[in-house]
Amino acid sequence: MEYRIGQGYDVHQLRKGLPMWLGGIQIPSEVGFVAHSDGDVAVHALCDALLGALALGDIGHLFPDTSDEWKGVDSKVLLADVVSRVRTLGWQVGNVDITIALQAPKLAPFIGQMRSVLAGVMGIDVDRVSVKATTTERLGFVGRGEGCEVWAVALLAK
Ligand code: MG
Repeated sequence: MEYRIGQGYDVHQLRKGLPMWLGGIQIPSEVGFVAHSDGDVAVHALCDALLGALALGDIGHLFPDTSDEWKGVDSKVLLADVVSRVRTLGWQVGNVDITIALQAPKLAPFIGQMRSVLAGVMGIDVDRVSVKATTTERLGFVGRGEGCEVWAVALLAK
């Protein structure tokens, strides 16, 4: 077996009155992400981890925010596209691990649904998809509720 590892990172700003899409699902919230796409910062970090494992660039390069084609796009469409590129090159997704830093709302009730939706999009078992959430104890831009920060790691095998 041959293995590749990739990491991804993304930040989006929060604003009142926007929908919050995170980890492939909509979270009930008074604030949502400012973005060209649906703003799903967790899916964006995950895409960059998968792309990074194969040195395929990043989602900003593949799906530019200057293009109307990707305006308001469901980020799961981008993830499906990235996974299809990975498979086309002969690789399988071994596992992914995502850490979301968000002060509010609390994400614990939504983690299971995020895992199953992301696993479905990637066509892998849910036990290969980890989603973790943390606050930053009110420190920094995340702690002040100004934004959300996400780190993702992906292991590929062939
Ligand atoms: Mg993004």
